[in-house]
Order: sequence, then C-alpha cells, then structure tokens
Amino acid sequence: MNPPTPGEQFRYFHKQQNQILDTIQQLVEIESPSDIKAAVDRLGTVLASRFGELGGKVQVHRAEEFGNHLEVRFGRNHFHDAKSILLLGHMDTVYPIGTISKMPFRVAKGRVWGPGVLDMKAGIALMLHVIETMLVGSGGRLPRAVTIFLVSDEEVGSLSSRAITEKLARDSAAVLVLEPAHGQAVKTSRKGVGHYQLCIKGKASHSGLDFEKGQSAVLELAHQILQISKLTDLQRGITLNVGKITGGTRVNVVPAEARASIDVRIARKKDAQEIERRLHGLKPQNPNCKIEITGGINRPPMERTAGVAALYAKATEIARALGWQLEEAAVGGGSDGNFTAALGIPTLDGLGAVGEGAHADHESVLISELPRRAALLAGLIAMI
Ligand SMILES: [Zn+2]
Repeated sequence: MNPPTPGEQFRYFHKQQNQILDTIQQLVEIESPSDIKAAVDRLGTVLASRFGELGGKVQVHRAEEFGNHLEVRFGRNHFHDAKSILLLGHMDTVYPIGTISKMPFRVAKGRVWGPGVLDMKAGIALMLHVIETMLVGSGGRLPRAVTIFLVSDEEVGSLSSRAITEKLARDSAAVLVLEPAHGQAVKTSRKGVGHYQLCIKGKASHSGLDFEKGQSAVLELAHQILQISKLTDLQRGITLNVGKITGGTRVNVVPAEARASIDVRIARKKDAQEIERRLHGLKPQNPNCKIEITGGINRPPMERTAGVAALYAKATEIARALGWQLEEAAVGGGSDGNFTAALGIPTLDGLGAVGEGAHADHESVLISELPRRAALLAGLIAMI
C-alpha cells in the first residue's frame, strides 16, 4: 500500500473535523493554569490515557512545583536505531481557574473559542488525531519513531521541564513544535528572552527638613532607565523593555529604594554575552547610590540555521502539494523550540493551529484551517 498523499490526508482530516473539535473541547474544558499543579495534572492524566489508548508508551515525569510532564513514545520497538521525531508542546495556560465560566468553549463564526484553545490545546488535539490517523492508515505502525513531549510550565519559563526537553531533543532527528502559527506561517526563528531585575539603594531622609542628606533611589532609577533603553538596537533585533518600576514610600520621603524589571529580547545568541556584560557594567550616576542587577537570559534565540531552513523547505513542499504557499515568520516571543534549536537540532515551530487572541479573551482557532495543519504535520512525520 502506498503511503497516502498530502491531498488524501487532507480529505481524511476534513472528514474528521468534528472529532478534532470534540477533542479540543475536552482539552479546553479541563482548565490548566501553570501555577495550579493539580489542575495541570488532571489534564495530563486525560492525555496520558488518550495517547495510551493509541498504543503509545507513556512516561510521566514527576515535577514538584508544577504539573507533571508527559512523554509518550510510538514505534520505539520497530525503529530502535533510528532517531525519532520529537513533537513538542505544553499543557499549561495563562488563564486562572474559573476563566472557562466567563469565556466558555464555543463554536461560532467558523471559529472555536475558549481559554488556551489556540495556545495550545488545539495543537495537542492535532498531535492526537494525526498520530491516530497515521496508525490506522498503516496497520498500526508509524513510518518512523515519534516521541511526544508535553510540558506543564512553558508559560512560566519551563524551568522544571527544560532539561528533559533538551535530553529528548538530543535523541531526535528533528523537533516539530505545535505552538500556534503566526498568521498561517510557521516560525523559523524566535528571539531569545531574558529577564533582569535592577535594585537601587539610596538613603532616606525627610524631604523638607533633611533634603540634602537623602540620596534618591528613584532619581537614580530614572537615569538608569535611560541608560538601559540605549542598549536597544532594532537593526540587530535587540530590545530592552523596562516593563515595571517600583520605588519610594511616601511623597515627603527621599526614596531609599527603587526597582525595575527588564525584559530583554535578542535575535542572535552571540549578543547574549554583550547585553549581560553591559547590564552588569551599569554604574550609578550618583556615587552615593548602589545598584545591583540580577537575572539572565532564560531562553536562547531560535536561529534560522541550515537545519531549520531544510525542515521549512520540506514543509513548503507538502504545502505545495495541498495547493498552498506556506510562509515562514521570525517572531519576538520564545517557546521551548528555542531550547531545542539552540542545541543545533533542526526545529520547526508554529505548526499548530491558526487563530488569534492568544492569552486574551478573544482567543480562538479557525476551524477551516485544522485539516490542512493536520495534513502538514502528518506529511512532515512521514517525510523527515
Ligand atoms: Zn504556547
């Protein structure tokens, strides 16, 4: 039996659309905010049994602070030597428990709505249905070994899952990330992300009686913010955003302390050191104030390496067979694909659902795009 063409896959997934929507509903209605372990674990248990029913070998990686991470392997016994393909995603969302009552799962205007539907429960549903379809179409055997890894803490920096993601990536020929598409495009590069905290210590005094004895930490912070903003270099894809400041106690007190939180984005790994060095090299303008900077680059950038470009080329070939011109995008946001790409493992991101409003109350997925995304993923698994 010849493997199905992308067009045949597409027609099949088109007929399956309602089943895919049922799965999306099941996943959306189990709320899973990153900071509630029991909630994410509930979703993990359901997914473990769904993937288990398909014959996947499920391994639960226990995490203490966050939900457990879920690894599922298919086809290990058939292809022991060959490296597998890693499908990567996350189960957690940014929405607190109870959001579902304000923005319930619904189907309207050709879209499916609900908390986390785009980022990225529809992506997980695509994984499930693509694996199921490929197994059915080939007598219970995938064309190659596939590992699925679903983490519980992506929206809060992936601290507890990163090491496992990296280990699985090292054993993989390629990593396909089912995060939302950018428009309809896949993501071939993502900026690296860092967070820093700046703390300034000055000296408090009465602003009327002892003004001269005070050393204003707030004034010093104002100077520092201007210095930090000068590090932004849009041409090189480097941005620094002082997104939050606090300082002072009362209007009639010269403030002894002030703080700022800084979000850093870099397009190239080699810029990380320079930004790090320059932030640590900040000098107080007022020598009587002390400044301290903590933090670092959390996600290295996902750069468009030759391996990434080759994966994208394969994806465009499959898309072309579906009569579709698949674009690529470079984005400023990070994902777990940043970790795998930084290890040099070919990574293609944004293979998940098409929609809008991630992390917002109009978060939704375009239903008509689901069959095409599923056919693209199935094609990639067969072709890589
Ligand atoms: Zn996401």
